[in-house]
Amino acid sequence: MNPPKKNLLITSHNGIETIVFYELKPGEQIKVVYKFIARHKNNILIPWLTLLNMERFTKSKTMVFPREIIVGHNTNQQVAELCERISTGKNVLIVADKKTKKLSGDEIHKVLKKASYTVKDKIVSSPTVGEVNRVIKYAHKNEVDLLLGVGGGSVIDVTKLAAYELKRPFVSIPTSAAHDGIASPRASLKHSKGSISKTAVSPLAVLADTKIITKAPYRMLASGCADAISNISAVMDWELAHRLKGEEFSTHGAVLAKTAAEMLIDNVEDIRPDSEESVWLAVKAMIVSGVAMSVAGNTRPASGSEHMFSHMLDHLGLGIMLKGKRHKKPLHGEQCGVGAIMMVYLHGGDWEKIRDTLKKIGAPTTSEELGISKKKIIEALVKAHEIRPERYTILGETGLTHDAAKKLAKITDVI
Ligand SMILES: [Zn+2]
Repeated sequence: MNPPKKNLLITSHNGIETIVFYELKPGEQIKVVYKFIARHKNNILIPWLTLLNMERFTKSKTMVFPREIIVGHNTNQQVAELCERISTGKNVLIVADKKTKKLSGDEIHKVLKKASYTVKDKIVSSPTVGEVNRVIKYAHKNEVDLLLGVGGGSVIDVTKLAAYELKRPFVSIPTSAAHDGIASPRASLKHSKGSISKTAVSPLAVLADTKIITKAPYRMLASGCADAISNISAVMDWELAHRLKGEEFSTHGAVLAKTAAEMLIDNVEDIRPDSEESVWLAVKAMIVSGVAMSVAGNTRPASGSEHMFSHMLDHLGLGIMLKGKRHKKPLHGEQCGVGAIMMVYLHGGDWEKIRDTLKKIGAPTTSEELGISKKKIIEALVKAHEIRPERYTILGETGLTHDAAKKLAKITDVI
C-alpha cells in the first residue's frame, strides 16, 4: 500500500508547535520516534520526528571472495587437502596449457591421483570463447565437480569463465604472476580486435606455489607488479568519476586497491629476479587487487585510463618496433605501468614515484623499453577514451588532442 502523497505533521518542542509539511513518494517510509520530555509544562508527550529512508532502499550487492588463499614454497603438495576442504566431489579437471602442464599441472595431477581423485586434463591454447566452450563441453562430458586452472593469466581466465558457466567451483593455481587476474572476478578474452573483459566469479581458492612461480621469466613478475602499481591511477580516475559524475564509489574497494600498489612501492627494494620473496610480495598484491574488484563489484579499483591506454595499444596492434630493444610483444602490465606514469601526471599526482618504482622493479617506463613506436604511443593516448566511453576518467569524454598527448608523453619521458 502506498502512503498518502501529502502529509502534515505537527511537532512540539519546548511548547513551540512546529508544523512540518512534507511529501512522500510511494515506497518511502517514516519512522516516528517518541521521546518524553517530562518538564514540559503541560506534561504532554512530545513526538520527535525522525524521517528515515526517504529514498526507497533498493541496493543489493553480492561479493564473492576466495575462501582459501595458500601462498608459499611447495604448496602444490597441499592441493588434495585443499580440494577436500572446498568440494565434496572427487572428479577434478585440470586446465592448463602445454607449458604449464609440465611446469605444475603434472605435479598437481600426481598429488590428486595419490589422494584417490579422478583427474582429467584439458589443454587450452588461447583465451578465446572457443576454448572456454571446449572446456565446458569436456567438463560436462566427464561430470567434473571442481576445476583447477593451472597456468598464467590466459589459462586462469579460460577456467574462470568455464567454471562460471558450469556453476562449479574453481581453484586458481598460477604459474606466473603477470597480472592481477589470479584472484579477480573478471576475465578477459581475446577476439579479433583486441580483448574484452567479462564477468565471471572469483576463484574459491588460490594456491600459489612460489617455487613454481619463481621459475617463470622475471619479466612476467615485473609486469604483474606494474599492473598492481597502476591501481594508483585507476583509483584516481574512480575518485574523479565519483566527484564529477556521481559514480558509485566504494571506499573499501579503493583502499584495498591502493594498498596493493603501496605494498609493492614500499617494498620495491625486495623485488628482484630469482627470489621467492619477490613472488610472495607480488602474489599478495595481486590477490588484494582481486579482492578490491570483488568488493567494488567491478574493475574500477584496478582499471582506469592507464588500462584504456593499454587496451588501445592492443587494439592498434601494429606499432611494435622491430629495431627496439625488445622484440617480444609488450605485456599487459608493462603497458599499464607506462600508462599509469602518464595518467598520474595528468591527475597532478606523484608520477615520478611511479616511474622510479617501475624502474627499480625493472618494468618498462619508456616507449623504447616497451618496444612500441612513439607514434603509436601518441595515437593510443589520443584514442584511449574510446575504449570504454561509459567509464569516466582523467581523459574526459573527448580525450586528449594530438598535441596534448605528445606533450604528456614527452614531459613524462615516455617518448
Ligand atoms: Zn590489468
